[in-house]
Amino acid sequence: MNYEVIVVGGGPVGMWLAAELALARVSVCVIERLEEPSDQSRALTLHPRTLEMFDMRGLKERFMKLGRPIRTGHFSMLNTRLDFSVLDSSSNYTLFIPQVITEQVIEEHALKLGVVVHRGMEVVSVREQEQEQEQGVEVVSVCTSGPQANVAVMTATYVVGADGAGSIVRKQAGIAFPGTDTTLTAILADAELANPPESGVHSEYSERGGVMIAPVYPDIYRVILTTPRMMEIPKDVPVTLEEVQTGLYDLLGTDLGVSNPRWLSRFGNATRQAQTYRKGRILLAGDAAHIHFPAGGQGMNVGLQEVANLGWKLAGVIRGWAPDTLLNSYHDERYPVNTQFLRNTEVQTRLLDFTPAVLAHRQLHEEWFRHPEINRSMAEQISALDVCYPAAGNVPQHPLNGKRFADFELWLPDGMTSYAYDLLHEGRFVLLHLAQDTKISNELRHISLSHISYVEAVADELPVGWRDVHTVLIRPDGYIAWAISVKQTDISSVIKDGIVTLI
Ligand SMILES: Cc1cc2nc3c(=O)[nH]c(=O)nc-3n(C[C@H](O)[C@H](O)[C@H](O)COP(=O)(O)OP(=O)(O)OC[C@H]3O[C@@H](n4cnc5c(N)ncnc54)[C@H](O)[C@@H]3O)c2cc1C
Repeated sequence: MNYEVIVVGGGPVGMWLAAELALARVSVCVIERLEEPSDQSRALTLHPRTLEMFDMRGLKERFMKLGRPIRTGHFSMLNTRLDFSVLDSSSNYTLFIPQVITEQVIEEHALKLGVVVHRGMEVVSVREQEQEQEQGVEVVSVCTSGPQANVAVMTATYVVGADGAGSIVRKQAGIAFPGTDTTLTAILADAELANPPESGVHSEYSERGGVMIAPVYPDIYRVILTTPRMMEIPKDVPVTLEEVQTGLYDLLGTDLGVSNPRWLSRFGNATRQAQTYRKGRILLAGDAAHIHFPAGGQGMNVGLQEVANLGWKLAGVIRGWAPDTLLNSYHDERYPVNTQFLRNTEVQTRLLDFTPAVLAHRQLHEEWFRHPEINRSMAEQISALDVCYPAAGNVPQHPLNGKRFADFELWLPDGMTSYAYDLLHEGRFVLLHLAQDTKISNELRHISLSHISYVEAVADELPVGWRDVHTVLIRPDGYIAWAISVKQTDISSVIKDGIVTLI
């Protein structure tokens, strides 16, 4: 079987990438080892930038119906919460929603768009074909049930490994995964609590240990625990209910009547990042590209955001409206963003210790986070609203170039109002002309391209930094490729002979 793209791994990241590609009419399949979706929710949060991204595809409302918005987030289990409500976003909260539900919504969306999902197939070999006449990648999988002899060989122009931390794609491509091993562990239990905390949620941290409790489903709570003794237990030692009961009792003086665990797991702080996100026709995304301690609930969010960056680039190269070198910008843009995010999780992990020095550091951080500017700055990091990309070098400078595109209300020529994010539902670039400049708009109107929508609009109130904007090109992932100011009457620096500079 031949596809334009094969995505290995049908977790949240692989499935979202496949959906983005299908939206751009790329023929894509997902190969997933599990016969049925997992029933274990590692992630419980969708952060503001991820919600904005879903908003840009018309999916946010669906998630909102299934989750619970919470106005704050945490940093290293500190008592001073990060205030998301002050963030400059229409999604200024985190959505509490089990990963299982997030994955269901994404998979439904992907299937509707025509993504082919091969379940119960484990990829065992990924090999780039090097002969000129057969350029592509060969992927060999075996059925996970039935006779192992049941082998499938597929080929694709590009393969993306979204196959998690132990990624076979990364290993087969020979991409190094440098970083550090686990030095501390914590445990989680998704279980019933006969005597849950009064408000349903609880968090405390002292020299005896740290505990966080929150409801996952109406009858199931997540308990996260670590103590000075527990954090030294190797990651592969199974967690028992008794360990959870004893840990809770030691910290809270009660085990809260914990019983019937649905999932018990021990996780560690190994932190690694793939040396490159691209090698020839093979690319990596999500946990296959980076692992870390799950502090601040960021891993899945970051993976989803990075494949929004990759999806349109792969589509552009495959459809022929962008050169293959555009794919290098996936690594160039995302690697530094993720390096920063891994540092952030490492700092949080350093604060998870029980020595007097670390407890004093925690106290200092508590105080710092009471300052609104510091609190906001960290909230912007955890929510990923601070992410921006280097401005393209070959377009006129404008402060908005490379920045995140935030939603605002527009008036369209038919007299209807629209939210700017609605213009991105089809996953195309949006060439937005705001200046009502007839000479230019006549020229722009003739630009009819499969990957760019031309929109004329005006706004009663433009966001900060937008007042002088004449025309702006918004990328499918919601970042500003370039903006032209009203002082710049010559648009030929970005659009010449109908060719639009994209990046
Ligand atoms: C305790 C804990 C709590 C967390 N909480 C949060 C949180 O609140 N917020 C957040 O954003 N993140 C959180 N994370 C991180 C988040 O769960 C991961 O970052 C996310 O699941 C990564 O998604 P992925 O699709 O890249 O990889 P995965 O979810 O690991 O999916 C990879 C898929 O690939 C498949 N696969 C693997 N090998 C093969 C193969 N050879 N052939 C075919 N298929 C294969 C697997 O079966 C799997 O379905 C948490 C993690 C942990 C451990």
